[in-house]
Amino acid sequence: MAGKYELLCLENPILDIQGVGDQKLLDKYGLKPNDAILADPEKHLGIYDELIKDYNAVLIAGGAAQNTARGAQYILDPNSVVYIGCIGKDQYGETLEKISGQAGVKTEYLYDEKTPTGRCGVVITGHNRSMCTDLAAANNYKVEHLKQERIWKQVENAQFFYVGGFHLTVCVPAIKALAEEAAAKNKTFILNLSAPFISQFFKDPLDEVLPYVDILIGNESEAAAFAESHNIESKDVKEIAKEIAKLPKKNSKKSRTVIFTQGTDPTIAVSAKEGGDVDVEEVPVHAIAAEKINDTNGAGDAFAGGFVAGIVQGKSLKKSIDMGQWLAKLSIQELGPSYPQPKQTY
Ligand code: ADP
Ligand code: MG
Ligand code: MG
Repeated sequence: MAGKYELLCLENPILDIQGVGDQKLLDKYGLKPNDAILADPEKHLGIYDELIKDYNAVLIAGGAAQNTARGAQYILDPNSVVYIGCIGKDQYGETLEKISGQAGVKTEYLYDEKTPTGRCGVVITGHNRSMCTDLAAANNYKVEHLKQERIWKQVENAQFFYVGGFHLTVCVPAIKALAEEAAAKNKTFILNLSAPFISQFFKDPLDEVLPYVDILIGNESEAAAFAESHNIESKDVKEIAKEIAKLPKKNSKKSRTVIFTQGTDPTIAVSAKEGGDVDVEEVPVHAIAAEKINDTNGAGDAFAGGFVAGIVQGKSLKKSIDMGQWLAKLSIQELGPSYPQPKQTY
């Protein structure tokens, strides 16, 4: 049965290949124990098969917004979430498609015949985690795919759009197409800031999309990077959120909400109100004993998944944030950006 598919997500589909490594592996590929880099084609591409063959690596459907899509679908009724991005025609792509399918997410991938599926090697040594991403096919998403009749119908059907900021390096026209659809029909457009480098090095595309953003999500370091690149003087996360909430907006029927998570510190949410005022909420995280934490990789993605599920269900802002905290707490007890089975309910 066709579902309602009211949430449509767009970003870079990446397969995480995550294994417990050792110094020898880090040395071989010249990786720092705690780092996130883009793979150098001359140097790093062997690591993916090696992690699988020699380090018992697990394959996890990754890519920030795809993690969020799986997280939202974890909570929502069946057939609620569609995810779009570009993969290759290979074994990694098949794995990605299978894992998302098992999570109940409907994938509408563009297939790039000539380029391999994007991969992120995650080498765990003790509490450290070294990530090495080869964007590959994910970098080749094209707006023409989105505009095909069959896909665009699903865009028209959706009421909520969630875009990962990492996609600002890939296909701004596709992001703009979703943003304009949202503004024209008073739908909800949600953007995640994804990483400090987006505000630092992709400020122009970010600023092009920002007027369409109804809900902006980020963490404390992304808030700081945004402030720095946008001449916001304050270092205070709440003050930064206030400034962003008040920036110009296309759809004047919806005011903007800015949400910043801060690891174990409370999440800040600022909503603009008419007349230049703002509402501020502070929502504590769900505390968890340190020894229960398995892997905080993807905490923010899980938060966004729970939060967006709440928004789709029409829950209040505060309740939706609490749902995000709840799902993040579940996810950090798993390996990688995953969610526990059997399913727990909020
Ligand atoms: P990111 O993964 O983007 O850096 P954060 O580190 O801010 O995002 O984490 C997002 C959310 O995950 C937090 O708001 C919180 O709900 C949850 N979280 C992260 N770390 C912990 C922790 N140690 N204990 C409990 N919750 C956590
Ligand atoms: Mg963090
Ligand atoms: Mg994050």
